[in-house]
Amino acid sequence: MTQPATLQTPVFRTATGRVYNFSAGPAVLPESVLLEVKEELPMYRQLGTSILEISHRSPEYTAIAESAKSLLRKLLGLDETWHVLFLQGGASLQFYQVPLNFLPPGGSADYLITGHWAKRAFQDAQLVGRVRVAASSEDRQFCAIPDPSSWDLDPQAAYLHFTSNNTIYGTQFPSEPEVSVPLVCDASSDFLSRRIDPRRYGLIYAGAQKNVGPAGVTLVLVREDFLQRRNQPLPPMLDYGVHAAKLFNTPPVFAVYIVEKVLRWLEGLGGLPAIEAINNRKAELLYRRIDQSDFYRGTAEPASRSKMNVTFRLPSETLEKQFIEEAQQAGLIGLKGHRLVGGLRASIYNACPIEAVEALISFMDYFEQRYG
Ligand SMILES: *Cc1c(COP(=O)(O)O)cnc(C)c1O
Repeated sequence: MTQPATLQTPVFRTATGRVYNFSAGPAVLPESVLLEVKEELPMYRQLGTSILEISHRSPEYTAIAESAKSLLRKLLGLDETWHVLFLQGGASLQFYQVPLNFLPPGGSADYLITGHWAKRAFQDAQLVGRVRVAASSEDRQFCAIPDPSSWDLDPQAAYLHFTSNNTIYGTQFPSEPEVSVPLVCDASSDFLSRRIDPRRYGLIYAGAQKNVGPAGVTLVLVREDFLQRRNQPLPPMLDYGVHAAKLFNTPPVFAVYIVEKVLRWLEGLGGLPAIEAINNRKAELLYRRIDQSDFYRGTAEPASRSKMNVTFRLPSETLEKQFIEEAQQAGLIGLKGHRLVGGLRASIYNACPIEAVEALISFMDYFEQRYG
């Protein structure tokens, strides 16, 4: 390959010298949150010790958990009929816990199979009872969200499960499915990235490590009337009702403590309408750059493109490897696509600043000029 001597690999850093992080998860956190945590370790306010070393039933931790819950309610516009739970086991445990609670004996639930995680949720539900595939895009390598007119819906379904954003394939539901049954949503990779209509949902879950905090806590929102439909009896640890009624066991205190700070940061930005506008802008800039030439090629169908995970390819795997390596040297990390699909993936979650996207675009300009 010819390499004009004038083309130097650019170098990008944030104002404080951090690299730009496009990791799919665990992912970038707001820097102000990290600094606040640093400030509060090893001593939290007047405690004389850190929040990590005291009881999860202490007034200090209780205040943090309550603040996180009320911020979540406020951000999403949830009324008192919603329970907010901080569970463990990741989104992966929810794949099993949801049907265990809500798949009634003799009944069935519908699943939209739009990616790897959606399929895993379906497979775990099959271990519990009868579930139906209402639609799948697996035959198209999950490059799109199936058109709603093609969905085969059961009006008697206990719920419709969907994955609002497909982290690996870079696709996202443009809006909520419009169905007559309650929605159950794996929102792990786009939770709090845009406004939603809570009235459509029975339950929403999200592993925190993509868009809301560190790994270790799974946020679960469940509506009271939906909760009352659950099967009984259940092992208490897997019964949403037990967690809704009381603090059943030790929650992941450090993760919840950081989530609360991220929620305050989000509220300070102007909440969901503000972050939605920023996220739209970031995605628009990046897709526009991808579409600008044949050198880069988006993998998702345009109508299904994710505003959180932007997946694209280069003309060869050799160039993709080179891109990832050089980008890392330039201070742009986490751009490697998921091992199931290869290629590149830029995860541009809430805490990814617009400057990161601008830096990536200028690196893409440089790289195409040099190797295109
Ligand atoms: C990352 C991810 C998961 C898996 O989450 P774990 O916390 O590792 O169990 C599930 N669903 C979606 C949409 C994801 O992005």
